[in-house]
Amino acid sequence: MSHIIHRSLRRTPPVAVGGDGITIIDSKGNHYLDASGGAAVSSLGHGHPDVIDAMHAQIDRLAYAHTSFFTTDAAEELAARIAYDAPGDLDHVYLVSGGSEAMETALKLARQYFVESGEPQRRLFIARRQSYHGNTLGALALGGNAFRRKPYAPLLMDVTRVAPCYEYRDRQQDQSVFAYTAGLLAELEMAIIAAGPENVIGFCAEPVVGATGGAIPPTPGYFTGVRELCDKYGILFIADEVMCGMGRTGTLYAIEQENVLPDLVTLGKGLGAGYQPIGAVVARDAIVQRLRNGSGVFQHGHTYVGHPVAAAAALAVQRVIQRDCLLGAVTVRGATLRRMLRGAFGEHPHVGDIRGRGLLWALELVRDRETKEPFAPSLKLHEAVRAQAMACGLMVYPMGGTIDGERGDHILLAPPFIATDADLGEIVSRLQEALDTALISVG
Ligand code: PLP
Repeated sequence: MSHIIHRSLRRTPPVAVGGDGITIIDSKGNHYLDASGGAAVSSLGHGHPDVIDAMHAQIDRLAYAHTSFFTTDAAEELAARIAYDAPGDLDHVYLVSGGSEAMETALKLARQYFVESGEPQRRLFIARRQSYHGNTLGALALGGNAFRRKPYAPLLMDVTRVAPCYEYRDRQQDQSVFAYTAGLLAELEMAIIAAGPENVIGFCAEPVVGATGGAIPPTPGYFTGVRELCDKYGILFIADEVMCGMGRTGTLYAIEQENVLPDLVTLGKGLGAGYQPIGAVVARDAIVQRLRNGSGVFQHGHTYVGHPVAAAAALAVQRVIQRDCLLGAVTVRGATLRRMLRGAFGEHPHVGDIRGRGLLWALELVRDRETKEPFAPSLKLHEAVRAQAMACGLMVYPMGGTIDGERGDHILLAPPFIATDADLGEIVSRLQEALDTALISVG
């Protein structure tokens, strides 16, 4: 019996003992193609020598120093690198240990910004129904994933939630993309007005929705409209790039493709590419200056903020991405993956939508392509897909029933940036087999 509280308390997963490139190996010698980078984490695959060397070098020098006493070269260099690469005046970086911590930090930084601006009545966040922002209580309150929120609902702060930008399901057949987008923005504006703009801290959204929805890119102009509304009502725009950031969509920040500058951006997953637990909040100059000229302190902190080994790993990851021109590779291989997915699943009777950006792709599964009727949540099709994929030596990231159980199942793919065309072909062909077997198994 395992003493670990695993995700499932009834089943111990296979024991991973090795990793090499895009493959993970278990203790029984089974090899799995990591087509989801875990959960969109392992952008450089496994066992990358440059990252490992950088971590060794940092551990040899210094494994840890608490930030109330010291800063470190590794943390300073990583922050400088992030600030240099970030768009606009996103110049200030707070380093944490993962995506949820990054979200908590962003919420608190946004709140403190208004407290120090003489607007302490601002206490509300607006987010979208189809979203996931993490599992700690603040981040969970923000997200729209009903399943994950349910047991904790009485503990969560009030959040106003608006419609997601989810063209496949929500745009009417006779509605233009422009009209659909305008409708979403009108709903957001109504929500701001109903809450009283003077009470709202910020609007939070994933530029490309990840796990809760499946690689959903925004419609053209959506985020431009969001930015305009945030400016009009003096509220902050927080872009959650924990999953879609750090090159996953072909640009370092997914929001760059919308030509919009957020006030705060959160990072995680791909920042350290799984070599160390690390996340970050990147903040615009005005926000940090307000605190600097006010109390002079950000009322926050964790024991492991700015961890030097995590910072050294993340810095090495960022250097490899630049040195090996991996942003370009993501765009090119993303186009190849799209072509392959469309070829394999374009006519599949139970694949309703194939969507994504860069190397973040998803298949949305439906019982009926015409009506878009999802499979019943009780079938747990996504779990069958995961199990069958593992049996085929493939890791994908399926999800189901993410909005009140209504929106059905999807399969997320987020292969490492180093995947070759041959790897992508193998991923798609194993996925075909896994999906068809899973569909037979649920009947
Ligand atoms: N935000 C988004 C968009 C995510 O996808 C996730 C994790 O899946 C998080 C936040 C939370 O990150 P973590 O699991 O590292 O706490």
